[in-house]
Amino acid sequence: PFDHDPFTFDPTAYSHLPTPIPYALLAHAFTLVNSTRSRIKITDSLTNLLRLLILHDPSSLLAAVWLTTNDVAPPYEGVEYGIGSQILSKAIQNTSGISAGQLRTLFNKMGDAGDVAFEAKSKQRTLGLRKPAALTIKGVFDTVIKIARTKGQGSQDAKRGLVERLLREGKGEEVRYLTRTLVQHLRIGAVKTTMLIALARAFSLTKPNGAQWETMFPAGTTKASKEKRQEVFGKAEEILKQCFARRPNYNDIVPALIDGGVEELNVRCPSKVHIPLKPMLGSITRDLSEMLIKLQGRDFACEYKYDGQRAQIHCDDDGNISIFSRHLELMTSKYPDLVALIPKVRTASVKSFILEGEVVAIDRATGQLRTFQTLSNRGRKDVLIKDVEIDVCFFGFDCMMINGEEMMSRPFRERRELLRSLFTEVPGQFTWVKSIDAVSADEDVVLDFFKSALKEKCEGIMVKVLDNLPEVSPDAEVMETSAVMSSQSKTVKGKVKKATESAANGSGGRRKALLSTYEPDKRLESWLKVKKDYDAAADSLDLVPIGAWHGSGRKNKWWSPILLAVRNPDTGSLEAVCKCMSGFTDDFYKALREKYNPDILDDSEETEEDPAPANQLLTSSTKPSYYESPLRPDVWFIASEVWEVKFADITLSPVYTAGLGLVDPERGMSIRFPRFIRKRDDKSVEEASTRQFLASLWEKQESREGQKKADGLEW
Ligand code: ATP
Repeated sequence: PFDHDPFTFDPTAYSHLPTPIPYALLAHAFTLVNSTRSRIKITDSLTNLLRLLILHDPSSLLAAVWLTTNDVAPPYEGVEYGIGSQILSKAIQNTSGISAGQLRTLFNKMGDAGDVAFEAKSKQRTLGLRKPAALTIKGVFDTVIKIARTKGQGSQDAKRGLVERLLREGKGEEVRYLTRTLVQHLRIGAVKTTMLIALARAFSLTKPNGAQWETMFPAGTTKASKEKRQEVFGKAEEILKQCFARRPNYNDIVPALIDGGVEELNVRCPSKVHIPLKPMLGSITRDLSEMLIKLQGRDFACEYKYDGQRAQIHCDDDGNISIFSRHLELMTSKYPDLVALIPKVRTASVKSFILEGEVVAIDRATGQLRTFQTLSNRGRKDVLIKDVEIDVCFFGFDCMMINGEEMMSRPFRERRELLRSLFTEVPGQFTWVKSIDAVSADEDVVLDFFKSALKEKCEGIMVKVLDNLPEVSPDAEVMETSAVMSSQSKTVKGKVKKATESAANGSGGRRKALLSTYEPDKRLESWLKVKKDYDAAADSLDLVPIGAWHGSGRKNKWWSPILLAVRNPDTGSLEAVCKCMSGFTDDFYKALREKYNPDILDDSEETEEDPAPANQLLTSSTKPSYYESPLRPDVWFIASEVWEVKFADITLSPVYTAGLGLVDPERGMSIRFPRFIRKRDDKSVEEASTRQFLASLWEKQESREGQKKADGLEW
């Protein structure tokens, strides 16, 4: 068992394990992680698992990390397993001996492919069968990669053969997790973020090459030794997160850790052309006045927030180009027209670079920007320039690397200058985001700029701090802004006053330092977004559909209402927050019923080009262990998508447990009159709104109410 505090766990006691280390150990770790919702326990179990591997079998470490994060490659390599439900169901039948009918009954009862495979195999009579050799972690990983790489004629049979071999050789719990791995629903919650923490801790506690783990820190229980450990862990975690944000590939990070530990990680594993950086993100502000208050005393740039697709362009010394999406997928072949422009736009002094901007659909004849919807009609892959029907323009806004030198730690003003001086504009095709520089006192200018952005069909503006500045005292400027704002509206005046007071209270009248560096994967106050719809930024949530009831009346063939959840980033669980039955079209309902289909064993023909994805097994009749819900829908959905939902207000709920303990010790939160707005195809479940975000909206709502009362605006 290794779900102990890492300081009472002794990895040296496992030297008797055979190497390469058996897969059973990983399956055991998955079982432990699956059996708890405590993030501390999950992190401890993973940390100890990794330490054991570092010490006894470092060559299996990378495989264990990938398998635990339920992937075999980073997103930009575009690796797909291509295992359809037919392959899987045939493999389960062939290895367990159960019939198609029995399998269907099991699926309908259990819903989870892993549970079904486990149950089917446990019914198997083993008498007289030859005992298979133990699976190893490395062996399983290699087989999964092989399955993914098997392509072309006959690949379906070859893939099935490999799946069968795994299921045949797996024993007990191994079968459950092997199957979940193959359908890419490992369902052990929060592992992607936890993995970086576990790696940081494991490599802080265990020196590569087997040095004694005890020598790292005092293992004592005194306050001082605990604090010391937290400090070392904290630093190591920061290094791991920073490195992963710049080089999101375990294939690079794990060997670098084995070779040089956490201390040398950033040197051994720097950002690199053709490996996408995780993009920096913008923080939400409710409106212009809130933004102006936040940036008191700073010089900032206001830029149009274009409604297109974010693109990170990488170019190496030889002129090879890669273009990555916001979610790190390679999309070079979607934009051959943009690729063809690069030799024309870089000046002679630029060899290699990484830059970032927004690709927007444009009407070449009129120069008018077109909607995101238009852009999404463009082909996704292997587009030929001659076939391009939807023209695009790239609006550059940042530059992160020039000629092999990282620029991210330089102030934004400098990066922007480099971008604009080292590249040449091609009007309507490759240009810079429209922008103005301002300070908080320029609110009329900012307001005009904001209005002009909306006229150009932009979503609003992005506001970026220009320089790295230490603390400043904002007092004088706050008074000025407050006076100007007061003429606009009573409510704005109230907000300015309140924010001014709280800023002064919180920082003793001074504002904290704000850097203008480019921080991959961070959502900081130095990048603010102000959107057109006053309430759009604040009063919408990105929720995950987790279950549904059978519809009645006109909707009796569909799912309605749908149960929606927020995310608990600490435990990885999903917490139900409301039932939603408004904002859906009939077509949407129909597609939803087809997607979340409990009759998963459909016998339709599966072809190599179009294998029915096994992760189409998206319903379950039992509640997944990582869902928190007081309500029991007719069917549970396996979390796989994010929906933007608007609502009237947030209430404290005696029923729902979303965010329980954050704003009230005994009650969770729910939302009233939820209305579906759109599917967020650009967000994964791990990017859905968190319980903390819900609580922050509730607090804003309460302070708004308080302000209304104070202003006498209450009816
Ligand atoms: P949203 O709900 O606004 O789409 P998001 O989570 O997708 O939020 P944010 O970081 O919050 O992304 O908003 C920034 C996005 O706006 C960027 O990812 C980019 O695609 C787009 N964008 C458009 N213009 C700019 C600009 N001038 N600077 C930075 N990002 C811009």
